[in-house]
Amino acid sequence: MTWDAIVIGSGFGGAMAAHALVHAGHRVLMLERGGWVGRGPDSWGPRGAGLITPHYAMDSAYDVSAGGRQYKAGSWNCVGGQSVFYGGASYRFRESDFQHHDEIVGTSAAEWPFGYGDVEPFYSEAELLLGVAGESGRDRTEPARSVAYPQAAAPLAHSAQRIADAASRLGLTPSRIPLAISYAANAGGTRSGCIKCGSCDGYACAAEAKNDLASAVIPGLVRLGMTLRTNTVCVRLVRTGSRVTDVECVNRVTGQRERISADRVILGAGTLATPHLLLASNLAVVNPAAGAVGRYLTRHRNAVVFGVYARRPNPTREFDKQVAIFDFYRTAGCIQQMTPPEGLVRAYLPRIVRTPAAMVLSRASGLLVIAEDQPNADNGVSIDWSRTDRYGLPRLRIRHRYSDRDERAATELIVQAKRVLRETGARLTFVNPIETFSHALGTVRMGLDARTAPLDEHGRFRGLDNVYVVDGSALPRSASVNPSLTIAANALRVGAHIARAAAPTHARSRRKGRMRRNLPVLNP
Ligand SMILES: Cc1cc2nc3c(=O)[nH]c(=O)nc-3n(C[C@H](O)[C@H](O)[C@H](O)COP(=O)(O)OP(=O)(O)OC[C@H]3O[C@@H](n4cnc5c(N)ncnc54)[C@H](O)[C@@H]3O)c2cc1C
Repeated sequence: MTWDAIVIGSGFGGAMAAHALVHAGHRVLMLERGGWVGRGPDSWGPRGAGLITPHYAMDSAYDVSAGGRQYKAGSWNCVGGQSVFYGGASYRFRESDFQHHDEIVGTSAAEWPFGYGDVEPFYSEAELLLGVAGESGRDRTEPARSVAYPQAAAPLAHSAQRIADAASRLGLTPSRIPLAISYAANAGGTRSGCIKCGSCDGYACAAEAKNDLASAVIPGLVRLGMTLRTNTVCVRLVRTGSRVTDVECVNRVTGQRERISADRVILGAGTLATPHLLLASNLAVVNPAAGAVGRYLTRHRNAVVFGVYARRPNPTREFDKQVAIFDFYRTAGCIQQMTPPEGLVRAYLPRIVRTPAAMVLSRASGLLVIAEDQPNADNGVSIDWSRTDRYGLPRLRIRHRYSDRDERAATELIVQAKRVLRETGARLTFVNPIETFSHALGTVRMGLDARTAPLDEHGRFRGLDNVYVVDGSALPRSASVNPSLTIAANALRVGAHIARAAAPTHARSRRKGRMRRNLPVLNP
């Protein structure tokens, strides 16, 4: 059987592109390397921290060389991708982020192939699907919007109010972080509203109040006829001339190998796994920007600045990712409230430092600083065929180094974050760098120039007629805010383009698809 489209990966990119195609009546097969994440009281327990669950998998571990250190990193493999464990901050990139910026771009030729206005309707659609709760009108860098947030922001927790008051006293303009969290139960009562447990970031939500893709989007697509195959590792895209005809995959449990045919292949495997698959399939050779495939990796220059207090700053342990400061956006980036849950620290740190670190954290409040980092040709991924994993994929190497400009921007934000924390009464402050690739972007970027951008403005992989990339790797620049909503909006945009350009040939019922176009999928 041939599918209209195979979508590889079920994260923001894959799920949102699938959403557009399924609703246009296309027959879609989604192949996902991981399985469903179980939900229940254990989700918030000591073994629920994402980084120590099997969903952060090491079976195709990456070799990382970054910041002068060599280490191994895993990948997030589950239905919904990283969204299941993410913090829910759902920002639109600012209008200026889509415009040329000499200092950031440097010699990288990283340019958006479209402006903010072109993607704005898809931001609105993504916010609706994710039930984003927010507040307009405070943040002066906030881009124009055509519709209001689907939900009002929840009342501020005490600890968040303290940060907001301190920032205001310093003459800054604190604003609310838009969050993909439902504060009321869904209509069918199958998902509860937020119970303010405080463990969104790094954990799966047991109440399914966090609108991750496995809770809010994918079940609805399956009900509309999409086929989802879990525990399926795609290892090769098989090309004939200018088309990929088949996807070769391996069952992660049984080891069984098979080939599946489709008219179109849509890559949503993530910023590291998508170039991995393209390079392992030797597809860069057909692309006029072959040298850019796997390069220009960005990951934000971010860090958490902690303030330590005499008394517990958040005794009720409410989720305190609520307030942000955008006053330094044009020169450096943004500052967002974020204190990792104590449980995450206990689960993650070496045993000997767990208890003292958790004690310090119980008296600490954190501010996350996010600075856009420069897309640099030397930062990226490459493959090593001398070592293969049990699925036959070559080893992926990641190399990354921040530029002096990246470091300067982060330093400016750290100074400002410390100022705010001291104003709240923090006795001392310290900085914890973030070394993960959770905000990785840019390795198969879009652009108008066929010599420097592997993807055209519709996300099509140049040199191939029927392959598209929709995950974080497609974004040419990272801006200074969390990337998920932009990945989602771009994937909806690409999905809508494919749906317009290609009528479904294998759909069971085209009319059914069209009639259901506007059904809400939120809180299925
Ligand atoms: C702890 C944490 C907190 C975060 N908090 C926020 C936040 O608050 N706000 C925000 O905007 N961003 C946040 N992020 C970042 C955000 O989650 C990611 O940028 C986003 O989810 C990436 O989406 P994606 O579709 O590009 O890739 P992914 O979410 O990584 O999805 C890729 C999917 O493809 C699958 N896959 C990979 N390889 C294969 C293969 N060979 N075959 C089949 N399937 C494959 C993977 O299993 C995965 O499900 C956070 C990330 C983490 C880890």
